[in-house]
Amino acid sequence: MTMTSAEMKALTHQYVMNTYGRFDVAIDHGEGSRLYDPEGREYIDLTSGIGVTDLGYGYQPWVDAITQQAKKLNHVSNLFYTEPSAKLAQILCQRTGMSSVFFANGGGEANEGIIKLARKYSFDKYGEGRATIITLNNSFHGRTITTLKATGQPRFHNHFFPFTEGFRYADANSMESLLSVAGDDVCAVMVELVQGEGGVLPLDPDYVKALRRLCDERDWLLLADEVQTGVGRTGKLFAFQNYDILPDAATFAKGIAGGLPMSGVMAAPKCRDVLGPGTHATTFGANPICSAAALVVQETINDKFLEEVNAKGAYLRQQIEALNLPCFGKTRGMGLMIGIEMAEGYSNSEVATRLIDAGLLVLTAGPGMRLLPPLVITKEEMDKAVAIMKATLS
Ligand SMILES: *Cc1c(COP(=O)(O)O)cnc(C)c1O
Repeated sequence: MTMTSAEMKALTHQYVMNTYGRFDVAIDHGEGSRLYDPEGREYIDLTSGIGVTDLGYGYQPWVDAITQQAKKLNHVSNLFYTEPSAKLAQILCQRTGMSSVFFANGGGEANEGIIKLARKYSFDKYGEGRATIITLNNSFHGRTITTLKATGQPRFHNHFFPFTEGFRYADANSMESLLSVAGDDVCAVMVELVQGEGGVLPLDPDYVKALRRLCDERDWLLLADEVQTGVGRTGKLFAFQNYDILPDAATFAKGIAGGLPMSGVMAAPKCRDVLGPGTHATTFGANPICSAAALVVQETINDKFLEEVNAKGAYLRQQIEALNLPCFGKTRGMGLMIGIEMAEGYSNSEVATRLIDAGLLVLTAGPGMRLLPPLVITKEEMDKAVAIMKATLS
């Protein structure tokens, strides 16, 4: 028996900690890039559960792989070897030029891992006192005590004192700003190549190239937080492939397993063995069911699929810009990671609420709108989404 929307909301308000500002919608099931509430009302989904459900809802090979793996082996711990995660690590390395993988469960946790890796790389080589990581203003790296502090937005550095030390912040796309906070105590620079929560802001290609060179010169690790940009979202398997660089380490999470909790750290050859026995671990990491799901994601998002992601992103942006809506400015982004600027005087959260009321799920980011549709979204579903924008916002 499925609850009604009203019952789900009442029970949630009574028993679940009130940490999220939720929209007034309950979801029961999905199909393709469409979601349905318990009463059967349809929503076109341009959110993918915040960049997670890259194969949409009810994708049969994904459902089958999970079902079969659940029957075979659900979990066994990292004290033993299993096939799905070993294969997944191999594929990720072969498709990126990375050399080794550590599997975890969520984005913040993966970023904790990459921070530990950077500090240990430096400690092993130079000893204590070289542990500072430079991150960018307007970034977002997670909700743990350390990754909140890594996040370059002062409003997140509140309530939970004391925070982890050893972070400094520079402006995106400015080598001058970066050099002004550099020093002998720095071991790494951590960036999102397209800032997600901050407002879908792609870094300048020239800046990223210069950053790669500077990190090489000073033996700083270049760390890419690809929690949101990874796994095909930007039209390549990872955004760093759009920038033609190899970071020293990169994290992934959201879309990696198509809707099951999984994340990880990938290390380039010079960092492949930094985290050795006893230095890092997590009980659920490399879970066989999550890994089996992630293998389907990897099989599905081949090079041809990624080309389609770019074509769909270009089409959706062009259709939205052609509407000439009074509330929207220009669009930007990469692949199916799309930001829309708000015109002067319009509020992104108000527009999001109106679209959601009208049956179109969208996200906000920074001062603008953010669209992260399932990567399998069809032209028909995109056209329906654009028609809802036109009808609601004209
Ligand atoms: C979502 C996100 C995180 C946090 O991931 P969780 O799975 O929520 O811990 C970290 N970094 C970036 C860039 C993200 O988009």
